Amino acid sequence: MAAEIPKVYSPEAIEPRWARYWVERKLYRPGDDLSQPRFCLVIPPPNITGLLHMGHMLEHTEIDVLMRWHRMRGENVLWLPGTDHASIATQMIVERELGREALPDLPPGAETESTWRREGQRRRREMGPEGFLERCWKWKEESGGTIRHQMERLGASCDWTRDRFTMDPAYSRAVLEVFVRLYEEGLIYRGKYIVNWCPRCGTAVSDLEVIHEERQGKLWYIRYPFEDGSGHLSVATTRPESMLGDTAVAVNPADERYRPVVGRNVVLPLLERIIPVVADEFVDPQFGTGAVKVTPAHDANDFEIALRHNLPRVEVIDEEARMSEAAGPYRGLDRYEARDAVVQDLRERGLLEKIEDYPLSVGTCQRCKTVVEPRLSAQWFMKMKPLAEPAIRVVEQGRIRIVPENYQKIYLDWMTNIHDWCISRQLWWGHRIPVWYCDACGHVVVARETPAACPKCRAQSLRPETDVLDTWFSSALWPFATLGWPDDTQDLRRFYPTDLMIMGFDILFFWGARMIMMGMKFMNDVPFRELYIHALVRDAEKQKMSKTKGNVIDPLEVTERFGTDAVRFALAISAAPGTDITFSYDKVESYRAFANKIWNAGRFILMNLQKLPEPTRDKLATALQPIPGVGFEPVAGPEHLALPDSWIFSRLATVSREMNEALSSYRFHEAAFKVYHFFWHEFCDWYLEWVKPEITAAVEGEKLPPVWVNLARVFEASLHLLQPFMPFITEELWHQLPHTIQGPSLSLRPFNLVGERVVDPVSEKQFQIVQELIVTARNAKAEMGLQNQKPSAQVASDDLRVLELLRTQQETVLRLAGLQALNFTRGHLAASVGGVHATPTFDLRLFHEEPVDREAERARLQKERDKLERQLAQVKKQLENQEFLSRAPRDVVRGVEHRHSELNVHYRKVLESLERLG
Ligand SMILES: [Zn+2]
Ligand SMILES: [Zn+2]
Repeated sequence: MAAEIPKVYSPEAIEPRWARYWVERKLYRPGDDLSQPRFCLVIPPPNITGLLHMGHMLEHTEIDVLMRWHRMRGENVLWLPGTDHASIATQMIVERELGREALPDLPPGAETESTWRREGQRRRREMGPEGFLERCWKWKEESGGTIRHQMERLGASCDWTRDRFTMDPAYSRAVLEVFVRLYEEGLIYRGKYIVNWCPRCGTAVSDLEVIHEERQGKLWYIRYPFEDGSGHLSVATTRPESMLGDTAVAVNPADERYRPVVGRNVVLPLLERIIPVVADEFVDPQFGTGAVKVTPAHDANDFEIALRHNLPRVEVIDEEARMSEAAGPYRGLDRYEARDAVVQDLRERGLLEKIEDYPLSVGTCQRCKTVVEPRLSAQWFMKMKPLAEPAIRVVEQGRIRIVPENYQKIYLDWMTNIHDWCISRQLWWGHRIPVWYCDACGHVVVARETPAACPKCRAQSLRPETDVLDTWFSSALWPFATLGWPDDTQDLRRFYPTDLMIMGFDILFFWGARMIMMGMKFMNDVPFRELYIHALVRDAEKQKMSKTKGNVIDPLEVTERFGTDAVRFALAISAAPGTDITFSYDKVESYRAFANKIWNAGRFILMNLQKLPEPTRDKLATALQPIPGVGFEPVAGPEHLALPDSWIFSRLATVSREMNEALSSYRFHEAAFKVYHFFWHEFCDWYLEWVKPEITAAVEGEKLPPVWVNLARVFEASLHLLQPFMPFITEELWHQLPHTIQGPSLSLRPFNLVGERVVDPVSEKQFQIVQELIVTARNAKAEMGLQNQKPSAQVASDDLRVLELLRTQQETVLRLAGLQALNFTRGHLAASVGGVHATPTFDLRLFHEEPVDREAERARLQKERDKLERQLAQVKKQLENQEFLSRAPRDVVRGVEHRHSELNVHYRKVLESLERLG
């Protein structure tokens, strides 16, 4: 046992030490005992793009609380960690780095960012794939290391020996295998279709990566003259520049107005191309004039119309969103410059009928916010309908439970309307698509290994596909690829399907849905049994945290300042399912105060424990061995079981049960609140105060007083309940308690040390009555300005049992309420006398010989209040001084913060007393 417990709790002194200890000892590898139930979760792999943010911290706290809780319940727990290569995001960051290195002296700002990006892209092409990918791997080493360090510091109880990365060789093999098998089954195909193209990122992106924004646009009405010179058709469009690619005008076949013109030809203005008028059901007669232009190469719906009517496709906008050769005189112009030029020319020729305001939805790139361009492009696609069917079924059948429940409908709706997924990306960092083209005979080879020659014509030179796969293609395999698939490994057999997945709603379709589809396809089973969707972390005003708003809280900074345990607790106690989380420094500060409370209680107990004779301490260590099958029970004194003992054990059992119930339905906030309330307001405020005289009394000889056994057992059991939330401080204190069988860590001990047997409603009721008397007496004293005096009191009740109960607890009541003497009367106290405090159970009246000088008391309190206000202002000023905060040694700052919270508590008490005086 350590000789000295530091007076001030300083998380930085203990947290890094335990974080290292847990990792070095590999404590969180699942055991080999296959007869035990197991619990497995594979981490939502953070992107290697940078540091973890508050959203990760929330996610990891929730996961870790559950993992630690399951582990303490005797399950073989595997939390498998890992990271994602994040193809497009990482490539953009590395490009920016290259740009920044080349032009280091630019001033910060949006302008510089885009200059760096352009320069970075240029340097990437200059370096070639080999050099660039080397840079990406270097980035991965650094960033991946930082993420791991941050997670260790958070106390994440992962099995680091199973750490995975989506581009590990073994993982890449799984990606290849899935691609080839899906291709062979016809579920992956290549084709020229309209895709969302980001002209800035230079790649296709999936529908999910496009953010739709409402913008004020315009509707241009353009006249398309009939070929035979007999008038014109009026066509409305939101994108006049794309008319250069029109190959038809379409009307609805049911639209009477246009029936006579179907089949006739019009002349495309500006380019003078002859195009037909076709009838297609897709056309909405209510839009514009009811006649629309058809631009198959730049609009997904027009592409479909063109297929139905066998229309040619003319590409007029290129991959950089500039006008192509086919745009004739407009070639080389940017798409928006071309718009102005086209509108201007139409107006000059009298072909522009009118312009109207028109709200429209504009798709922008999720990564860079550039307006995406629908573009005809040869890409690889995955057929989703056949994969979605089993994934819909397992959720409908309840084989996967989605929590909160409302997300289930959102999931099913999306899955029912799913479209094919464009899986190829024109990027360098990622899994290269395993395809080779034979230019000699046109054959396409899809293979697990690089083919030596074309299997059709034996030509030796094959051209490899340069596109890579969408990041989410590999992430979709995460639950089984991390466990060793395609090999039939022991881990795969043991841990698949996993038990739980936790993620934010923003990636439910990107990732959650696709994992379910791939799991059903390749493992013929669900990837996880429950899917918990967590909330967002917002600031105290419920605003989303964002760099531009300047309200981002950095997890590293906040943990350094307040300690990891406090941050974890603040997050957990705010995490109610389906509700966004408000998070602020104030909140964390109040849970740092909770950690202080735990520390002080532990210190008080341990310091007094050290005063016990050694043989007594040894006996106590034995008493802290849970009785098999029973756990802890209160022990009785020479005569009877003391009321506070049976009460606190009863409360402990109830709180344990309630915490179990709350955690099994993801009510983190409730579990955290229960243990918080129990520890602070029941264990510390009442139990500890109650037994203090016995605990501080000297112990004679070798006997072990029952009060010590009970106190130590309740404290030990409380640390167990707190451990999943606050693993550091509880581990530290637990190691200081005497144990006969220590074990390496509190986190490997059982969660519940007390069973339902100790629940005792009679004791709880009795204790409540005594509590009520003490509280009533304290309030009465304050109202009369007698806080610093010891008046006598009279208690009256109709109920003889109440009087008897209070009489037996008399000594404690006098001490905790600060009374001189108590006398008991059957019946009621006449209210007319004044000063009577009536409760449903008893009446109380205080007696005081000297008349109370309320004015003097008020003056004294006011003086005290003013002094505290001055002191508080001074300390606050110091804490707001950035220079002091950054320069002063950590323990000095900590000391000032400590004084601030002490002054605050005192100040509030004085205000309360003043209020009571009236
Ligand atoms: Zn982009
Ligand atoms: Zn060939």
